[in-house]
Amino acid sequence: MVKRAAGVPASEIPEAEQLELVGLVWDAAEEEVLTIGPVEPTGWRPADEVVRFTVCPGCGELVAEPYLRVVKGQQLCVGCSAYES
Ligand SMILES: [Zn+2]
Repeated sequence: MVKRAAGVPASEIPEAEQLELVGLVWDAAEEEVLTIGPVEPTGWRPADEVVRFTVCPGCGELVAEPYLRVVKGQQLCVGCSAYES
């Protein structure tokens, strides 16, 4: 977790180190990682807005639709559009 907090991508952390963290949770006693009690109302309600995503045809990245920019009839991400954000 220290490496991730320092900005090291997960793909660059050796698998043995990743599995140490997995083992902490995997091997923990139930009472250390779970809270079990009566079921209570949570007050949850659906989100007011759901943002759809689409794939930018320029770079192939997922883009939230409000951030698409139209360039010559194509809907591109801000980076591919060359618009200033
Ligand atoms: Zn793009």
